[in-house]
Amino acid sequence: MKEQKIVVIGAGVAGINFATKLVDNGYPGELITIIDKGNDPFNRQPEEVMTGMLGSGGWSDGKLTYHTSIGGVLSKYCGEDKAMELMDQVISNFRRFHPKPEEIFCSDPQAEPDFIKPYFGLRLFPVWHIGSNYLHEIAKAWYSYLVDKGVKFMWNTEVSAIDFKTEYIDIKDSLEIISYDELIFAVGKSGIDFGKKLADNYQLPTEPKSVQIGVRFEAPQKYFQKLIDISYDFKLYQKFNNVSLRSFCTNNNAAYVAVEETYGDITYNGHAKKGEEFRNNMTNFGILMEIKGIENPFEWSREVVSKLQFRNIGLYYSPSRTPSQTSEGESINTVQIGNLNQFKEVMGEYADYIINFIDQMNKVFEFKNDWGMYIPEVKYLSPEPLVDYKNLALVDYPNVHFVGDALSARGITVSGAQGIYVAESLL
Ligand SMILES: Cc1cc2nc3c(=O)[nH]c(=O)nc-3n(C[C@H](O)[C@H](O)[C@H](O)COP(=O)(O)OP(=O)(O)OC[C@H]3O[C@@H](n4cnc5c(N)ncnc54)[C@H](O)[C@@H]3O)c2cc1C
Repeated sequence: MKEQKIVVIGAGVAGINFATKLVDNGYPGELITIIDKGNDPFNRQPEEVMTGMLGSGGWSDGKLTYHTSIGGVLSKYCGEDKAMELMDQVISNFRRFHPKPEEIFCSDPQAEPDFIKPYFGLRLFPVWHIGSNYLHEIAKAWYSYLVDKGVKFMWNTEVSAIDFKTEYIDIKDSLEIISYDELIFAVGKSGIDFGKKLADNYQLPTEPKSVQIGVRFEAPQKYFQKLIDISYDFKLYQKFNNVSLRSFCTNNNAAYVAVEETYGDITYNGHAKKGEEFRNNMTNFGILMEIKGIENPFEWSREVVSKLQFRNIGLYYSPSRTPSQTSEGESINTVQIGNLNQFKEVMGEYADYIINFIDQMNKVFEFKNDWGMYIPEVKYLSPEPLVDYKNLALVDYPNVHFVGDALSARGITVSGAQGIYVAESLL
């Protein structure tokens, strides 16, 4: 490959896998600059959930899904076989920098159990479990490797503007501008508004998107154990005409609800800890609806999320429980509501799909009143810019590559795989 100056915006899973592929193949690290608005792995604090070395992936639950229909879009660009091979590379990178690789385990359910059949389908796919606690150590080892290879990192540095025509980047609150020959745009979910701004400014052509919205459900694990024994990260699903629902990102054993803040609103997610000291015997997962046919899905989701708040805080509903605590023993940032009126008013008919999903789960798992839900959980599908499928470069700017959640990924494996795919195209 011609040696060029490469700038990566975002030290998340996509950006880091991208750079690793290059230096592993002899590309001079000195020509790669990675800019991130968060902290390096030695200074990153637990509450910095979405920014810093390894991005949201670095502080998440560490479940590496291994299927092309889970975690966003990959095979559309490169085909099924290549997608699986790229995901293999991501998993080996996590293994390579893991302090105890022998503790990584894979759950691989094979058959749909009879007891869920009348009500739900179950998606079966392998998941590699890295363990949240180890992700910090992985991030440190991985970072040290890239620094040794000469890669330059700029931490606590937020990119505020990019000029695709002159190929310059502006840094927030600084007069510094940085030039590039190739640009990797890997800002993840915390950079979603920046991506949108660029898409608007440059009128980037986009692919059509659906809405993905719902709640984070939580209950004691004992009710779900018979399903967890078959599939740790189970994916229940139901399909209707323009709406499909699925359980999403299941956490067990030491399962905590995580608070996300996007556009000033509070939304929920979840993560699991490894280690007996964190065990709380809870299960949580998203119940996410994919709604097709909404005209401006992004604006629609944002409006719904902003109405599902009480004084800028998300909601919690339970017929009998109170909200749980975070893994740091603090209260989850949420307001408990006594009924579902606000939820029904804001979500309209879509609230019924979620309530029905919970009712049907109750028939199978018999948790009765012993459950709660954090409202809302949302996957903002940012307008997905149209890219050249060969190298994920913008159709009008062939040296600007979008990867990870900033493009169409929704998880660690697919984000990392997209990073590696672009690196291979440059190599
Ligand atoms: C709590 C939680 C749990 C999760 N659990 C799982 C899981 O178990 N399995 C799974 O597959 N996925 C999980 N995910 C999703 C997964 O982490 C993401 O899909 C993945 O990290 C996306 O990778 P990325 O590289 O695109 O973005 P990220 O990993 O989010 O990285 C983006 C980086 O860009 C930086 N950045 C953003 N804007 C700018 C800017 N303007 N200037 C400079 N830097 C910027 C950020 O600081 C961040 O470090 C979870 C997410 C969360 C929040």
